[in-house]
Amino acid sequence: MLMQKERELIVEYGKLMLSSGLTRGTGGNLSIYDHELELMAISPSGIAYEATLPEDVVIMKLDGTIVDGTKVPSSENAMHAIVYKNRKDVGGMIHVHSTFAATVSCLNQDLPAVDYLVAFAKGKSVKCAPYATYGTPELAENSIRTMGEQNAVLLANHGMNCVGPNLQTAFAIAEQLEFCAELYVRAKAIGEPVILPDEEMDRMIVRFANYGQKF
Ligand code: 13P
Ligand code: ZN
Repeated sequence: MLMQKERELIVEYGKLMLSSGLTRGTGGNLSIYDHELELMAISPSGIAYEATLPEDVVIMKLDGTIVDGTKVPSSENAMHAIVYKNRKDVGGMIHVHSTFAATVSCLNQDLPAVDYLVAFAKGKSVKCAPYATYGTPELAENSIRTMGEQNAVLLANHGMNCVGPNLQTAFAIAEQLEFCAELYVRAKAIGEPVILPDEEMDRMIVRFANYGQKF
């Protein structure tokens, strides 16, 4: 089967998305892009993550053509494709309906640097893209325009997108940023959170680029 490894990763991380509380039901979607093959593997639309099988994953070109798969691809396939068209550094993407990122997105407000971990977004904040109907080209455009070269974006009244060089990294970024959104919402409930200064966040972005093990 074409992109067997990628299909298996999408099944595995779909289940993780659910068990880690990053989404619920059939909300959210995830993809992997192979820049050499120029093919995207993406979760199918509206199938429970627990029930999704590798053969349900859809293989597509970035123009929307289905290359392999019998299921309808995620309704947000254009929102994933537009990222891979514009970002050579991105190989994986996750779209989630996590509670606290979605809460902040309902204010149509950016998530500020309430914690140094916001630097996982490769920026001083996670910007919020203007609202558009799910599954539309307009939402795809709002998302990429607002995210720019960063690793994450909130979608107004909807959720969050995170990207990385691979799906595993995109997932880890989503977990960290959901934690930051939770801190922000909770801190706001008891007072006015102190936001880290720009200079500190600039330092964090540089440090995060070199964080962890070197292989
Ligand atoms: P799909 O099941 O079609 O991927 O849609 C879920 C979603 O989150 C839409 O924004
Ligand atoms: Zn969604």
